[in-house]
Amino acid sequence: MTSTITPFGAMRTHGAGTISLDDVGDEITVAGWVDTRRDHGGIIFLDLRDRSGIVQVVADPADEAVADAERVRSEWVVRIHGTVVARPDGMVNDDLPTGAIEVKADRIEVLSVADTPPFPVSDDVDVSEDLRLRHRYVDLRRPRMARNLAMRSQVIRGIRDVMHRNGFLDVETPTLTRPTPEGARDFLVPSRLMPGKAFALPQSPQLFKQLLMVAGVERYYQIAQCWRDEDLRADRQPQFSQLDLELSFGDEEDVFALMEEMFAQLWRDVLDQELPTPFPRMTFAEAMARFGSDKPDLRFAMELADLGEVFADTGVGVFKGVLDGGGVVVALAVPGGGDMTRRVFDEWTDWARGRGAKGLAWAVVEADGSLRSPLAKFMTDDEIAGVLATTGAAAGDAIFFGAGRDRFTRELMGALRVAVAKDRDMVPAGEWKFLWVTDMPMFDAAEDSDDPTAAVADGWVPNHHPFTSPAPEFIDDFEQRPGEATTRAYDIVLNGVELASGSVRIHDADLQRRVFRFLGISDEVAEDKFGFLLRGFNYGVPPHCGIAPGIDRLVMLMAGEPNIREVIPFPKTQSGACLLTDAPAAYDEASLAELRLKSLPVPTKD
Ligand code: ASP
Repeated sequence: MTSTITPFGAMRTHGAGTISLDDVGDEITVAGWVDTRRDHGGIIFLDLRDRSGIVQVVADPADEAVADAERVRSEWVVRIHGTVVARPDGMVNDDLPTGAIEVKADRIEVLSVADTPPFPVSDDVDVSEDLRLRHRYVDLRRPRMARNLAMRSQVIRGIRDVMHRNGFLDVETPTLTRPTPEGARDFLVPSRLMPGKAFALPQSPQLFKQLLMVAGVERYYQIAQCWRDEDLRADRQPQFSQLDLELSFGDEEDVFALMEEMFAQLWRDVLDQELPTPFPRMTFAEAMARFGSDKPDLRFAMELADLGEVFADTGVGVFKGVLDGGGVVVALAVPGGGDMTRRVFDEWTDWARGRGAKGLAWAVVEADGSLRSPLAKFMTDDEIAGVLATTGAAAGDAIFFGAGRDRFTRELMGALRVAVAKDRDMVPAGEWKFLWVTDMPMFDAAEDSDDPTAAVADGWVPNHHPFTSPAPEFIDDFEQRPGEATTRAYDIVLNGVELASGSVRIHDADLQRRVFRFLGISDEVAEDKFGFLLRGFNYGVPPHCGIAPGIDRLVMLMAGEPNIREVIPFPKTQSGACLLTDAPAAYDEASLAELRLKSLPVPTKD
């Protein structure tokens, strides 16, 4: 005899949210949490909630169940036996999927009692995030959170579907491993059995997946947990999930097609929307020039304009100084922005200063085409005409000017573009703008990198990671022109958020060593850190490439949530703590001694 699991568990016949008019007259058993309890002069109504939804239960004064119905409180766990009845005319609740029926209770069994919950299990209460995280088990009962968990599960299932359909094997890689090279700091796990040594938690399975290609797996994927010990930045988690994948004997086009198939299926299955494919593509250089960002948000226009030519011989001192020094002058026209007051312009200037800029200049285009601006009196008529022609600004628009070092200034103006668009409600709702950004730079100048721990040689750090193949035209001499060299790396961007990075990899041990050397990683250090990869490369390595979309951000965008913590079951706070378990926790000296470690005094703040 085969045994089968009952759909709702042996203790129930139905899910609360699954009962309908078809069940009228049936005796049923439901179980779940008491969502609300209302006493209408002796008749007691309970809303019973389980994962499938809510059903109304009535206990009549004539019924034996009424005594228990009087006793129960919110969030008690109960099992109810009763009969499904149609609600009388006029009592039907169209807002509730089960609103046409109710369950007339004849027996209520209390399975567990509950303290008054720290906050109501409802979406419309204003609760601090700390309290929600401390009692996450209650928080996750709220409809919105339950929906997010379910969506996450559906997304992961869809991902697995697409991967298996395309011949990818799900392979697990170790989480106690050696430091991996994504550029952040590692979380270390000291070894007790090998005192003085430590494992690292992987920042990604990068090297293992490359070795799986050497091993002949050809197509690998994994829903991987990754750890990066970064300084606190908005909306990052020290632990996060990636769909990590790698394929052999293919190139960018395979990765693009696979990802487009996957995103299209997820949007169809989860959101019931058709995504147009293929997604548009843009080189990194174009994205920087037009949008001041390697992850442009294409839901709104507002492109940057380069005013280098317009101000080539200018009398505007600040612009001249910057241009003569090899910097750039970049403008952003804001349609209709002429309604901004002096104070608002000052606020944006402060905003720019807060990001390390010296300042921002601004102008408003008057009805007669003249500029109202603190800089106007220094500009010639030709320059004003040039500004209008290059930015496309017209009467009633505002123009911001940024001047300074190339990459920094473009990124500043790109960030301003996004911030102003959000501030002025210029971002249309409900749009999905996917974009491939390609031809990434091979290296970033260290001063432009946000990665404080990456290997730095002559001021260069890898833009992606050091396993990324240079573009063919730079393979022979990237060392001679590191600032120009591009790679076969690509990012997928959705609505201005980077969803994934990937690349075609180096599959030649000599080229790999040259990249290491250029980054200041000597052959000895490379051997020590990455010898296992380089050795693997000596035993027949196929050309390979891959990508790794972040699952938390993906689900966040699909669910329309403002931050990733809303789609992670048990997230850390922004300061990196788990309020539920109180982790990280103080360690005791005995366990340190076992690990042959000693703690240093914690520096005090002042
Ligand atoms: N390992 C990379 C990352 O985690 C992704 C990739 O190159 O496939 O960012």
